Amino acid sequence: KSVVAIVGRPNVGKSTIFNRLVGERISIVEDIPGVTRDRIYAEGEWLTSTFNVIDTGGIEIGDEPLLVQMRHQAEVAIDEADVIIFLVNGKEGITAADEEVAKLLYKSNKPIVLGVNKIDNPEMRERIYEFYSLGFGEPFPISGAHGLGLGDMLDEVVGNFPKRETEVPDEDTVYFSLIGRPNVGKSSLVNALLNEDRVIVSEMEGTTRDAIDTHLHKDDQDFVIIDTAGMRKRGKVYESTEKYSVLRALKAIERSDVVLVLIDAESGIREQDKKIAGYAHEAGRAIIIVVNKWDTIESDEKAIRDFEEKVRAHFLFLDYAPIVFLSAKTKKRLHTLIPAIKMASENHSIRIATNVLNDVIMDAIAMNPTPTLKGKRLKVLYATQVAVKPPSFVVFVNDPELMHFSYQRFLENKIREAFGFVGTPIKIFARRRQ
Ligand code: GDP
Repeated sequence: KSVVAIVGRPNVGKSTIFNRLVGERISIVEDIPGVTRDRIYAEGEWLTSTFNVIDTGGIEIGDEPLLVQMRHQAEVAIDEADVIIFLVNGKEGITAADEEVAKLLYKSNKPIVLGVNKIDNPEMRERIYEFYSLGFGEPFPISGAHGLGLGDMLDEVVGNFPKRETEVPDEDTVYFSLIGRPNVGKSSLVNALLNEDRVIVSEMEGTTRDAIDTHLHKDDQDFVIIDTAGMRKRGKVYESTEKYSVLRALKAIERSDVVLVLIDAESGIREQDKKIAGYAHEAGRAIIIVVNKWDTIESDEKAIRDFEEKVRAHFLFLDYAPIVFLSAKTKKRLHTLIPAIKMASENHSIRIATNVLNDVIMDAIAMNPTPTLKGKRLKVLYATQVAVKPPSFVVFVNDPELMHFSYQRFLENKIREAFGFVGTPIKIFARRRQ
């Protein structure tokens, strides 16, 4: 998928435009603390194109001076994006900071679309002309606040997307990635996996600009490790920024069936771990929590139980994810990982026969009667699985309004009890059927 980045000095309206571009696709049913706030990466849509949008304004690093911040943001955009939207403020005209951003962007050979924001009515349109002098061609008048002019600008953005062959994933291959903050041991674990006994490894031609995929065969199963450039291309100045590693993770998650969320046993669980894991969960991927550096812990059954409790308390929304304790360094317990990936992937793409599913649903309803709202009782007619990866179910009911989320959660738990689904989220939707 093509990537669009929005850059510009502070307060030109980057986040407003970002939210406009990604629209209601950003709305999240579940409320995962710390995940959905300050989002910087999401899917946008225009006509027949879907693309990913980065709000570089969200990539801040502590209290660095403005110029340093802008340089980081421009660097991320230049590195990551296929098309850059350079946003300026039509009410204020060209400022020195705009010129600084422009200078950084001159160095890129990416297509740049100049958006002049805060042109809230046609009378203000003439203000765009001074922006020609920035040297990025025709300025597009837009109003993030009122949603004006976005279509013309997006035509230009989409028209500049590179033509690339779409990747067709192999159905029989399990694609997985490793995510986690810097230094949790992602590269070490990849290397450990590749050097494991009876693993046959072959490098694949990079299918996207910045991913290096590695093919491996183990336990009669083909796997592809999606290795983002973040693991190999080291030492970039922005590698240190927290949000930047999130960006890397997101790109890998998008192409994965199974995501390994790495946690550092030595330094413990951090807020950032949760945020990264939250993205994998939201994307509906199968997830395994990997506690790495287990060699640094005095390891007995109790230590595992204690750590497991801590992980569960921090990652309430990942209650379905198995936890694997291992050491990439000593390879202790490493052999448990591939079977866990295989199992999670199988559960992620399971199809449940409709009659079996309905037996489970009807048993559940017999045990715990459906809720009523204002004297009206929820009636469940039948359920059916509509998708895999993750397994998704539609429950046909008399009125979806009556499906209280706690009852939906109850049905979800019953489905889980019956079919396992270890390692994968599942989705349930209520639909009206008379
Ligand atoms: P990445 O940034 O997530 O790719 O992390 P690296 O793989 O570069 O590892 C970061 C540091 O942690 C390096 O110094 C590794 O040697 C160390 N490390 C990785 N895995 C383990 C482990 O299982 N045990 C210990 N003790 N150290 C590890």
